[in-house]
Amino acid sequence: MASSFRGGADSLGMTLGALLILVPASVMMTRLPRLWKFQVQTRHWYQNTYPAAVSGDRLACFSCGSDDIETRTISRQTGHNGHICGQCDTTLYYS
Ligand SMILES: [Zn+2]
Repeated sequence: MASSFRGGADSLGMTLGALLILVPASVMMTRLPRLWKFQVQTRHWYQNTYPAAVSGDRLACFSCGSDDIETRTISRQTGHNGHICGQCDTTLYYS
């Protein structure tokens, strides 16, 4: 019985988890918009948000489908890198 209940519980948990993250995050966004982005928009976030763009270790741009992803240092202070599509210049995620 635990296994049939599990799928629903996980998606409910994810929804609640997202709410718990998003509500305080939206308050913080007005204060720390850049830091918030770096911390939330990780590779894990990208994979969850754009599952079609990620298969195994291969990661493609959600916008144009290119796998030419460049890594650029975004903030020397916090040491965050931005992973940016080399084709269309869309920022995909941070690390
Ligand atoms: Zn692209």
